[in-house]
Amino acid sequence: MKYIDLHTDALTGEGVLSVTPETLRRGDCALECFACFTPHGTLCDTLRLCDRFDEMCSSCGYKRVERADGLSADGIHAMLTVEGGEAVEGELENLTLLYKRGVRLLTLVWNFDNNLGGTHGGGQGLTPFGRAVVEKMGELKMLVDVSHGSDALFYDVAKWSRERGLPFVASHSNARAVCAHSRNLTDEEIGTLADCGGVMGLNFYDEFLSSDKSAEGQKIALIAQISHILKVGGEDVLALGSDFDGIPQNAYLKTAADMPRFFEDLCAVFPPRLVEKLAYANAARVIREIIN
Ligand SMILES: [Zn+2]
Repeated sequence: MKYIDLHTDALTGEGVLSVTPETLRRGDCALECFACFTPHGTLCDTLRLCDRFDEMCSSCGYKRVERADGLSADGIHAMLTVEGGEAVEGELENLTLLYKRGVRLLTLVWNFDNNLGGTHGGGQGLTPFGRAVVEKMGELKMLVDVSHGSDALFYDVAKWSRERGLPFVASHSNARAVCAHSRNLTDEEIGTLADCGGVMGLNFYDEFLSSDKSAEGQKIALIAQISHILKVGGEDVLALGSDFDGIPQNAYLKTAADMPRFFEDLCAVFPPRLVEKLAYANAARVIREIIN
């Protein structure tokens, strides 16, 4: 089953990686979103990672996606993203520069407050500069990502999304009602995200899934997440955001090559039509709507 993954840290990963040309091919991946991640990173560091992405695409044979119509061809596609809006260094022109460099999604904040807004568990929403960045992202046709953001930031982005009629994403976040962690979304947030036409990518970090870290425990937790998200957000809001190579390896889903087995397990519980939506169609819908 073809799938789209909204978040991996493989671009900055070290050692044996879960996301490689080989695992993506065995996993039947259609699109992998590679994050430029440099904690407290500068624009300069981020641009260096953009160069690394270019080199990776040519050496691994990935097809870069900068427009939605690029997604339709066969093969493994790669989209460039940035995790942490501090990379913009407080200047909207830098956002335009990153866009021109091929970046199509920006995760506004990471695990600390920055000049765009507040991190998870905190109370700060979007700052005036954060608001200007989100507005500019709408103009440039970039995906606004609220994963890692505070609840207040989530609702500030949702308000903008409703005003502009543009969906947004939580690229790698689960449901908080199933696993109580501030990185996961509340039921109300999941409902709001669904109303705005957005998607949330299921995250494979065991801390965001269950205290039972065994393979079976993780499989049960992922199924519980999906069942719950379907109940509170409907079938159009689910997507994948593995976080591969940004997290300790999950005992159940170790690499991208495990994805076919995951989909097989899901098809034993959910209608295959629904599994296809969470694997590919929902994320593709939002990407096509924004990046064109
Ligand atoms: Zn992250």
